[in-house]
Amino acid sequence: MSGTVGRPVEKALRKRISELLKAGKEQAEIARILDKAPSTIAYHVRALGHKAKEYESPASIGKDGKRRCVQCGKRKSLGAFPNERNAACSMCVRGLTK
Ligand SMILES: [Zn+2]
Repeated sequence: MSGTVGRPVEKALRKRISELLKAGKEQAEIARILDKAPSTIAYHVRALGHKAKEYESPASIGKDGKRRCVQCGKRKSLGAFPNERNAACSMCVRGLTK
């Protein structure tokens, strides 16, 4: 990872995230504002020394074969998620729920 640390783009992004956190924004909101994946935001939030919301571990799949989206809280079939590791449904990832 040392090759990526300190790149101007990363620094600028981290600064923006820091500012948005101070402004009281939720990680999911920041992800939408900056058009980044929630996991990317979580990575920088952790790097900034904040406790990041865990977006890496999706909710477990229920007996009905559906999973709860961490963002909108709705239970959706697996096809509604971008991939099996994504904790937020496609609608939330694309920012279409608001
Ligand atoms: Zn959702």
